[in-house]
Amino acid sequence: MSENSEEEPEEKPKARKKAGKTEKKKKKERGVFALYKIENDNVSRLRPTCERCGPGYFMADHGDRYTCGHCGFTRYKLDEDKK
Ligand SMILES: [Zn+2]
Repeated sequence: MSENSEEEPEEKPKARKKAGKTEKKKKKERGVFALYKIENDNVSRLRPTCERCGPGYFMADHGDRYTCGHCGFTRYKLDEDKK
């Protein structure tokens, strides 16, 4: 009887669990793309653009007013904006 003494290398169970799986942090997506709304192939902007900086610079909604983070321009909402 010839016993095969060759031991197969035991596969070590990967005990080391990666503590932090590269899980993407759930972050609120922020970006200009969120400021656009596409409806029927028409792009509408959800925020007004800065009058000083021109189109491309969105103003932040601060409830009763809009402010431009670029130049600091503040524009109070008109009644029609508050709807
Ligand atoms: Zn501006």
